[in-house]
Amino acid sequence: MKYIFVSGGVISGLGKGVTTASVALLLKSRGIKVTAIKCDAYMNVDAGTIRPQEHGEVFVTDDGIECDQDIGHYERFINENLNRTNYVTNGQIYQEIIRRERSFEYNGEDVEIVPHVPEEMIRRFKYAGRSNKADVVIIEVGGTVGEYQNVLFIEANRIMKYRDKEDVIHIHVGYLPTPTFLGEMKSKPVQTSVRVLSSSGIQPDFIIGRAEKPIDEPRKERIAWLCNIDKEDVISNPDVDSIYKIPIIFKEQKLDEKILRKLGIKAKKDDLKDWKKSVERIQKNNKVIKIGIVGKYATIGDYTLGDAYISVVESIKHAAWINNIKPEIKWIDAEKFTEGDLKEIDGIVIPGGFGKRGIEGKIKAIKYAREHGLPFLGLCLGLQMAVVEFARNICGLKDANSTEINPKTNYPVIDIMPEQKKFLEKSNYGATMRLGKYPCKLSLGTKASKLYETNEINERHRHRYEVNPKYHQILQKNGLIFSGLSPNKKLVEIIELKNHPFFVATQFHPEFKSRFTDPHPLFMGLIQASNK
Ligand code: GLN
Repeated sequence: MKYIFVSGGVISGLGKGVTTASVALLLKSRGIKVTAIKCDAYMNVDAGTIRPQEHGEVFVTDDGIECDQDIGHYERFINENLNRTNYVTNGQIYQEIIRRERSFEYNGEDVEIVPHVPEEMIRRFKYAGRSNKADVVIIEVGGTVGEYQNVLFIEANRIMKYRDKEDVIHIHVGYLPTPTFLGEMKSKPVQTSVRVLSSSGIQPDFIIGRAEKPIDEPRKERIAWLCNIDKEDVISNPDVDSIYKIPIIFKEQKLDEKILRKLGIKAKKDDLKDWKKSVERIQKNNKVIKIGIVGKYATIGDYTLGDAYISVVESIKHAAWINNIKPEIKWIDAEKFTEGDLKEIDGIVIPGGFGKRGIEGKIKAIKYAREHGLPFLGLCLGLQMAVVEFARNICGLKDANSTEINPKTNYPVIDIMPEQKKFLEKSNYGATMRLGKYPCKLSLGTKASKLYETNEINERHRHRYEVNPKYHQILQKNGLIFSGLSPNKKLVEIIELKNHPFFVATQFHPEFKSRFTDPHPLFMGLIQASNK
């Protein structure tokens, strides 16, 4: 097994995740079995307990891991389902080491930060490779080099390289700013971050330079001789309008070929034909449609972040591009929602969420969509609020609500799942939601079954509340269609309305399964209806 570490320098947010995903795709396209691991330095065991303002989206895998959004990038690029072995946090590492120490599994040894922490990391990297039957394991180290948090992941890299020189390489992603007051691209920050990396005993094999433009020859030369690497191993990663172009940009610089040579792997040829075809569609699309996401937005100081809905945004794009449509996303703040926000909007998504904030705005938006034939796709909380809206305004259940929002409501049409109650009573919050892949049966003749073109599906979940079984009958009698149910028919998984261009909501998160080359059927439905 071979290993590629990916680190970042200078600033965060350089797109290391996309770089990792792109490298994985390039190798996969050469017939190599790859897997990718995200290492996060936080002490949280997983991302499930971190608030979205701090973490962005929590991505969920088939096997129910609440993880970093980079895992979402990996899946969207290599079009494969990843699992719990693909996500490593300091929290997991320390938890396991302390568990082992308490059960005397170290046989009286003195348990130390070094080597025991990096050794546990290495054990996990190797296990991930073995269990995913990978030839190449790509390991993305979260954060930037030089910070205290991730030094042990870097140390794990050093130890692996020391043991198996031929099998481990390192890609460093750095930033070359072009300050407006200078009008010149500067390479010093990259040189500095490589120096920091070197002081941890790691010499990078490739430097990927994120910058506004491609790096020119003189700057490549400078980076090469100051950082001890060949000029052709300095790879440009300029700003592009779509992240899906990055694998092609790397391919043009023969990054796959160069990596394979360094790792001593012989592989078949591939020109990335299918991927390129999909990228061409991004270019071609001409008709613009506007999709509103009525959500909660995180404002930190002067900046508003939409990262919490990244999979939703990507799913909209995937479905639009394949229909030769250019999607324009409009961020609509649920807390300040007015009907005027939906003027000129062709379709809306109400994404998942937790807690009270913005709830009434979401309900108003759903009411507007229902009454005006505006295409609507509700996701998880989006389904729950669609049921609340329907109960209030069609079934006449005044002030109906979810008990998450109003525990004292007279009509708890959305209620906590019985097995979830126990967890909350014991303050047992970590990884206890209904998580990951569950089967769902679709009713014949519904929009959902037509879009999926099958009657049995598997989708990913992350919730504690459900449509209250006590209200199933009254909701259905008033015309709400349960188009998807759990196999035992107890849980409502998809709802829809007749006589509406597209009014569909899911208790699960279809956005976690949409892929660039394989868009999700429900997003296809939303886009096609919005286009009409
Ligand atoms: N807060 C809701 C629940 O826990 C919805 C969760 C979500 O949208 N992911 O059921």
